[in-house]
Amino acid sequence: MKICIKPYIDYAVLPNRDVSVCCSAWHEFGPIGNIATTSLQSVWQSERAATFRESVSDGSFRYCHQNACPHLMNQDGPVMAIEEAPAEIRTLIQAQMYGQAPLPKNLHLAFDETCNLRCPSCRHEIIASDKHEVKDIFAEVRAGLSRDVEYINLGGAGDVFASPVLRDWLYNFDASEFPHLRHVHFHTNLQLFSEKVWERLPQSLRSLKVTFDVSMDAASDATYQLNRPPGNWQRLMKNLDFLSKLRQADHVKDVCCNFVVQKNNYHEVPLFIQLVEGFGFDSAKFTKLDNWGTFEDEDYRRRAIHLPTHPEHQHYQAILKDPALKRPAAYLANLA
Ligand code: SF4
Repeated sequence: MKICIKPYIDYAVLPNRDVSVCCSAWHEFGPIGNIATTSLQSVWQSERAATFRESVSDGSFRYCHQNACPHLMNQDGPVMAIEEAPAEIRTLIQAQMYGQAPLPKNLHLAFDETCNLRCPSCRHEIIASDKHEVKDIFAEVRAGLSRDVEYINLGGAGDVFASPVLRDWLYNFDASEFPHLRHVHFHTNLQLFSEKVWERLPQSLRSLKVTFDVSMDAASDATYQLNRPPGNWQRLMKNLDFLSKLRQADHVKDVCCNFVVQKNNYHEVPLFIQLVEGFGFDSAKFTKLDNWGTFEDEDYRRRAIHLPTHPEHQHYQAILKDPALKRPAAYLANLA
């Protein structure tokens, strides 16, 4: 039987203090709680958390969207045979003690919406979150369940390098706050990442396993202007070039470039793979366009090329048969 270990190891704190154990676009369960009135530990061990864990442990996956979750679709990552699960989680599942999950190992800092861009799929305007509020939430997170955290993902709500609070934390990184931390993952548009920024990161941080996800959604300047306004393509290329040097020197262990496929960019899918390979990165990841509430229904249907009802869907299907998509770097997350 297949299970998913993500809700046993992973959590994100969102801008409204909701706690989520998986990407909200991949399932319909919603948050497991909120830390405004309840401690993180109580949320982690709540009845609601137990209900969601049960649903990914009894083979039903009844809240998960088969066509949206790439792990369920590809049977990879946290989705695995129960025999392959870590012993501690396997024991809990066999005893049906879903609320008693051990302290989480993966933390997503998704509470700061500050970003230097206004991508249409995400927002209508440039957002700068209230610094004091962000600081307060971060302090609550650090005081909450940080003890066993081994992996921190910086991203998911805004851009880490645009956030004064997260940048300050990185530049003054104190390893004693997260004594078991071994891996830091940056999810970024890379516009504000440069050699200067890298040099400012303390050695104690740079010596951890460092990986990157770069959001691009384009393989040309013209398409980048549509999907990442007001980003600068030349600056992105320069920063990718520096990131490529870090990857080649093994200071960065993995770089994945992300491409949300839609009407205005699907023709660039093969070119994107070529671009990513040219920089020597590890993967070009393709996902469907979601509607996070920024598109009117009609506008979404006009952009969502993956929908069989889209007038250009046949052309999109033809692009998906391009030999470039068979190359090792191409990862068709939830497009398959
Ligand atoms: S199966 Fe997918 S959607 Fe469900 S909990 Fe796991 S990763 Fe999330």
